[in-house]
Amino acid sequence: MKWEDLRRSKNVEDRRGRGGSSFGGGMGSGRSGGMGGNLLMMLLMSKGKFKWFLIGILLIFFFTGGSSLLGGGQPTNRNYGDSGVVFEDTTEKSDSNNQISDEEGEFLSAVLANTEDFWAMKFAEYELSYKKPKLVLYTEGTNTGGCGFGQSSAGPFYCPGDQSIYIDVSFYRELANKYGAPGDFAMAYVLAHEVGHHVQQQLGTMDDYQRLAQQNPGAKNELTVRLELQADYYAGAWARYADEQDILDEGDIEEALQAAFSVGDDTLQKETMGYVVPDSFTHGTSKQRQEWFARGYKYAGDFQEADTFNRDI
Ligand SMILES: [Zn+2]
Repeated sequence: MKWEDLRRSKNVEDRRGRGGSSFGGGMGSGRSGGMGGNLLMMLLMSKGKFKWFLIGILLIFFFTGGSSLLGGGQPTNRNYGDSGVVFEDTTEKSDSNNQISDEEGEFLSAVLANTEDFWAMKFAEYELSYKKPKLVLYTEGTNTGGCGFGQSSAGPFYCPGDQSIYIDVSFYRELANKYGAPGDFAMAYVLAHEVGHHVQQQLGTMDDYQRLAQQNPGAKNELTVRLELQADYYAGAWARYADEQDILDEGDIEEALQAAFSVGDDTLQKETMGYVVPDSFTHGTSKQRQEWFARGYKYAGDFQEADTFNRDI
């Protein structure tokens, strides 16, 4: 994929290198850890007086356990926005590409930005507005806003509670080495699939799915397959958009199809966490996943054609 000249997203939060526990673990729960990390990140990037101001905040944060500063004590799934707001401010002020300078991080940021452009356009066609998701890059494990403690062993996932996608970039290598799906566009497909879950969240499909699954627990697996195949459809839709911009290399679509194949149910089994959309649970067969990706490409994301819940899959 020719991604180097694409714009980067402002909605990437880099939590890599912070290990398997939350920042300052044990001093509060949920978003508090993320908040401390964001402050630290701002601190590292800031200069002059602002830096000392941040050091002050960070010290208060440590000594108060974070909660008083953050209105702690709320259920974690209501804390959405805390870290997001700080993060947005950071990116606005820095006016650089958020502190991300490694190739994998930059690549994902560029792909995310491209999906933002596509979905904003697509939603506008239906007179809807698209609220962009956040992408959190992390290693090993990290707190989420409503989906428990995310672990990279579960693979990339989307958390509806904080409308964020969580990816450990080592999955890139896992795709190539463990699942036999090499190539940058294989990873682009993975991210576009998670963005597809965000699209579902934005359109209310995610809520419908959860309501239906609660009403009829016996049908949950099948409903999950339909949800997952629709995310593949949306990934295919974005791939078409990227292709039309002439930014794909020869073989990119094949890379995505190979990835879709390799992460079929029969191949990829992951753990579920809390009420995260169970990306690990039931995704459809490799063949189904390829077919729905291809359909998304064919129909360029037409929402009518996307209805995996009322069609033969
Ligand atoms: Zn999924």
